[in-house]
Amino acid sequence: MNEYDTEVAEGLLAHQGYEIVPDALETGPCAREVVLNADVFVMNTCAVREHAEERVYGRLGMLGKYKKANPDLIIGLMGCMVEEHQEKLFQRFPQLDFMVGTRNIKELPALIDRVTKTRQQVASIKRDGLSIEYTDLIKRASRYQAWLPIMTGCNKVCTFCIVPITRGAEVSMPAREVYREAGRLVSEGVKWITLLGQNVNSYSGGDKITGDKMQDTRYKILDAKHKTQAAHDKGQNANQIQSSLLESSILNLESTSLSKVSADNFPQLLEMLCQIEGLDRISFTTSHPQDATEELFQVIARNPKISRRFHLPLQSGSDAVLKRMKRLHTYADYKQKIDRLRALVPDIAVTTDIIAGFSGETEADHESTLRALEEIRYDSAYIFKYSLRAQTPAARLADDVPLEKKERRNAQLLEIQRKISREKYGEWVGRTVEVFAEAVNSRDKKQLVGWTADDKKVVFEGDPSLVGSFMKVQLLDLNRETLIGKLGGGDDATGYC
Ligand code: SAH
Repeated sequence: MNEYDTEVAEGLLAHQGYEIVPDALETGPCAREVVLNADVFVMNTCAVREHAEERVYGRLGMLGKYKKANPDLIIGLMGCMVEEHQEKLFQRFPQLDFMVGTRNIKELPALIDRVTKTRQQVASIKRDGLSIEYTDLIKRASRYQAWLPIMTGCNKVCTFCIVPITRGAEVSMPAREVYREAGRLVSEGVKWITLLGQNVNSYSGGDKITGDKMQDTRYKILDAKHKTQAAHDKGQNANQIQSSLLESSILNLESTSLSKVSADNFPQLLEMLCQIEGLDRISFTTSHPQDATEELFQVIARNPKISRRFHLPLQSGSDAVLKRMKRLHTYADYKQKIDRLRALVPDIAVTTDIIAGFSGETEADHESTLRALEEIRYDSAYIFKYSLRAQTPAARLADDVPLEKKERRNAQLLEIQRKISREKYGEWVGRTVEVFAEAVNSRDKKQLVGWTADDKKVVFEGDPSLVGSFMKVQLLDLNRETLIGKLGGGDDATGYC
């Protein structure tokens, strides 16, 4: 979701005439020069683990020093850390000029204007509602792939997790808004959409958004001024833009009755989006096990457009730990769901998140998680050391697994998972699959980077004109978690698209 929010922020600022430059603090020896020449420095932040926050504090310290040399530099923060700490950050960091809450992104240009005029610290942090901005001003990283948030917030009460505090209660975008935005993206050439939400599979059709909130998130049809601007930016003439819009599904959609578009839950929404012609692949993240239902599995099974990668965070293989985490599932419940999904969709890749060293985790609990990894055999897993977050329910429990133990358990989990991932990826070598070519490989321009139907990365030689299309690729080798392939191959294609 952060990447999407960053793309929206960049688009809004670019529309105001700002030139967006890559993260200046990452530009190595030129960092000083870049920051000293910048007008505004904005950081989008995450609050899930303490480590990420500490990096932001370190960067704010560094930016404070740069500001002494460039007093006009405007420094701003957006994202979950703003929601977590709010105005308190202004006292701790006087160099910080503005903060934008996750539900206020569209106010970003206005806030920067205010700081420029008043040179006073300003914050805009709305406490409820939706943090989704659908806007055609978005500056997407890829021409063919797009993020599409469909809900925000979380009504679960996982004790370790700060997300319900930073993103608030669940709110879903109305299905017809999602449908319309997906249609707009496809009309712009997007072929692959990733649906986003903190609990994407508890999507509830957006019945809760009414009145002015609807107005707030209204889809903005390109107006005449905008069309001319877009034509100008792309070096096309306005007639070309006009005719491509006329062909687009948006306008077709406008002429049908939008009120007919409805989906009360996530499986229905998926099935509805699968009907959009020209949309070839749909992924989604992140799902909660409690809302991973038989209906959802059935929809995945019967729709080849839906990605063959399912990310379902387990967190721990121990029921005692899962209970303290208030995950609402036991290991057996979870495993049963994965077994059912695999029975319905045999080639599905399953991935997960694991937390090592949660409060009270014993050696036996840890061994249960190791066993779970071996038993389920995920294609890959994100494994994190537990990081106590103030304000979460688990902050009241002792963070009693010493750091060395957390590190050792984390390393053991990673080691087992790396071995399993290598084996799972290795099973694909020798097969010919459908691959979506996403881009030219920045490290070797003769090569393309693509993705299989289950989101495995493939590198292969190919002409840049193939970017944005699907093709058969024979998988020849494996380098860590990247498959090496060659175009074409036998008739045994096992892709899904
Ligand atoms: N909605 C997802 C969680 C999103 S947060 C779910 O219900 O599973 C992404 C991941 O960060 C989580 O799955 C968890 O593994 C990790 N995480 C969240 N809080 C954490 C904490 N306090 N310490 C370590 N890892 C954490």
